Amino acid sequence: MKFLITLVIFASTIFAFNLHISDSTVANGKTTIIEFTKEKNIGYKKVILGKKVHKIYQHPLDASKMYALIPISYYEKPSDKKVKIIYTDKGKEKNKIILLYVEDGKYKQEKIKVQKSKVTLNKKDKKRASIEYAQAMKIYSASTPKNLIHSKFIAPMDSKITSSFGKARVYNETLNGYHSGTDYRAKVGTPIKASNDGIVVLVKDRFYSGGTVILDHGRGIYTCYYHMSDFNVKKGQKIKKADVIGLSGVSGRVTGPHLHFSARVGGEQVDPLQLIDLLNKKLF
Ligand SMILES: [Zn+2]
Repeated sequence: MKFLITLVIFASTIFAFNLHISDSTVANGKTTIIEFTKEKNIGYKKVILGKKVHKIYQHPLDASKMYALIPISYYEKPSDKKVKIIYTDKGKEKNKIILLYVEDGKYKQEKIKVQKSKVTLNKKDKKRASIEYAQAMKIYSASTPKNLIHSKFIAPMDSKITSSFGKARVYNETLNGYHSGTDYRAKVGTPIKASNDGIVVLVKDRFYSGGTVILDHGRGIYTCYYHMSDFNVKKGQKIKKADVIGLSGVSGRVTGPHLHFSARVGGEQVDPLQLIDLLNKKLF
């Protein structure tokens, strides 16, 4: 019986359904990719993980392949996850379950001393921060279905990383979330480059993130640039990789001047450098 099951799965893998997951163990806050090889009569539709649905897209450079990015929330606990792949076989909808193990990212803790008014918010600031959060969420949920990138991502600046993604943050002795991006050492006025081609979807001075630019790269991928002192772009503008989008600064909730660089994919906030590295290796 066991042999038979193995054989059936083997046959379906070879003759009909063909997928490869880049890493079946992934830490919270990181992203993995499932690659599909196109097969006759098979239509790859979507990937479902928990309540989230991830689209399956055409590979940008390889006509014979498709892919889906699977971001894991920072708050996900270590566990086995069932990933459901929906596809059609000769027009008939089917599904296949594969297993994904979410492991603990083992992020360290870091203590931060900031202005008291940036941790315990007054009524006006509270309202402002919640409006800004809602605005950002609206942007992340309405992404351009079209792919806007055609080559590898780059770092927003060539500088020392002073704080990595995922560190549990203790602001003024109170645990208050986690570090949502990567910090680069940058004195005020350092040029910031667009990590890849995209459309500017937000240019704004916000309560926590200060001078902020968000770029939409299409298909649910965004990069964000915080604490800026000056903007070089306008909302709606198309930009090319390495274009200078503005200058670094010391605005918002900061302990000193730096660039905070972060990324979203499929609505999830993930480690930006791991995401870029994955995309550069697998897609471009
Ligand atoms: Zn930061």
